[in-house]
Amino acid sequence: MNLIEHFVNGKIIPGSSDKKGKVFNPATGEQESEVRLASRSDLDSAVEAAKKAFETWSSKPALQRARIIFKFKELIEKNSDELTKLIVSEHGKVYEDARGSLTRGLEVVEFACGIPHLLKGEFSENVGTNVDSWSMRQPLGVVAGITPFNFPAMVPMWMFPIAIACGNTFILKPSEKDPSCGLRLAELLSEAGLPDGVFNVINGDKEAVDAILTNKDIKAISFVGSTPIAKYIYENSAKNEKRVQALGGAKNHLVVMPDCDLDGAVNGLMGAAYGSAGERCMAQSVAVAVGEIGDELVSRLSKKAEALKVGPGMDKTSEMGPLVTKEHLEKVTSYVDLGVKEGAKLVVDGRGLKLQGYENGFYIGGCLFDHVNKDMRIYKEEIFGPVLSVVRVKTFEEAAKLINDHEYGNGVSIYTRDGDAGRTFASKIQVGMVGINVPIPVPMAFHSFGGWKRSLFGDSGMHGMEGIKFYTKLKTVTSRWPSGVRSNAEFVMPTMK
Ligand code: NAD
Repeated sequence: MNLIEHFVNGKIIPGSSDKKGKVFNPATGEQESEVRLASRSDLDSAVEAAKKAFETWSSKPALQRARIIFKFKELIEKNSDELTKLIVSEHGKVYEDARGSLTRGLEVVEFACGIPHLLKGEFSENVGTNVDSWSMRQPLGVVAGITPFNFPAMVPMWMFPIAIACGNTFILKPSEKDPSCGLRLAELLSEAGLPDGVFNVINGDKEAVDAILTNKDIKAISFVGSTPIAKYIYENSAKNEKRVQALGGAKNHLVVMPDCDLDGAVNGLMGAAYGSAGERCMAQSVAVAVGEIGDELVSRLSKKAEALKVGPGMDKTSEMGPLVTKEHLEKVTSYVDLGVKEGAKLVVDGRGLKLQGYENGFYIGGCLFDHVNKDMRIYKEEIFGPVLSVVRVKTFEEAAKLINDHEYGNGVSIYTRDGDAGRTFASKIQVGMVGINVPIPVPMAFHSFGGWKRSLFGDSGMHGMEGIKFYTKLKTVTSRWPSGVRSNAEFVMPTMK
């Protein structure tokens, strides 16, 4: 059986622990690999390598670092088919969707190519007589990224291109459910000319994460995953004096106003609710039907949800692939059972789907609930599967209140032709990423990605200028080059004259 190891100091190395995890092909349900789960000593030796590499990497001119990142960009483009197939084989999502997610990661690499410009500081001449002041941003040291299963290439690429372009060295701890992509990216970085030790991959589970949290040489942690773990990472990073950004789970709403282009809203919802089998933190899992539009919305959605083509990710005709693991399939199925028990109307039931030739794959068809209300657990909790709930409200204000009262605040959208409704929504809604007639409002790499409320713990989002700030610390210098007479000692608080 294929054994997936770690990548430290420029090469694949066998871990010291006997602990291994299972990696499945979700399309067939077969186990295809084992992944080594790191011990604390594996993590500590990767940090040692990264710490050593930091000494020279951080003092390289930003332009030289940018050129390596640029070469990496070319290698991703050259190897995109292979990387996409790796994502499909371990995650299960359909090929074109996987390829799209790789492109969204690539955009961050492209952004990081501009690092000499992005790191420019500020300068003020003559802040006092013959005194100048300037600020500069310097790298932190060794930083770590802990990532979820649903975007094995894109989410790590939200982090490391910017972190290393800023001059840091990096430890990636990918999800143990689909670890291969992280290793392949490490090899491509080496091929691009990245010095050994600058980028390292440690595979593992909680033990590796806890080792990251307590290693004193790791200065910052970027985390993306579920809310309970994000909170754990946030609290323990703070306790161990580390900078932290911890992005958590979501329950995203798409508001369907009575005046909207209903076909646009329905098509938007189909892709946003069922794309990637709902395993996206920006999936729209709640449609909020305002006024009288509910019946027509549900009727159109149900026809499309019933017609969804579910199949293996490598089959070009599949619109939706399997879920990532058997356990996750069971969890999503149990939420559908729960919704029925809670009294929501199950309009389309995708449970128990068996595909000929793929009987052991982790498939579920698209599910659609109508008449879901705010007290139901299927409304309150993140299901992370292809389950769309329709909640009916009377007014725009009621829709906005529903969303603002939810514990999560990752993404949200409104479909309307009314500019006033769109503008008020963007201004007042308590959610970090807002779409207006756009179903999945994922910001581009030169803006920043991040939710509000319990969808993000910490102060900064991923990539864009938030990423630059997160991975650097600010230093401000005040200088005087005296000419002529030296001044005497002063014992009062200095003010500029
Ligand atoms: P997860 O929280 O189970 O795992 C994320 C990472 O944490 C993995 O690397 C995992 O190994 C590690 N981990 C898991 N349990 C741990 C524990 N007890 N202690 C320490 N570390 C632990 O998340 P997942 O199931 O891989 O991913 C799905 C979740 O990620 C969803 O909730 C989704 O909304 C969220 N997500 C959020 C965003 C965002 O930007 N907000 C993006 C993608 C995914």
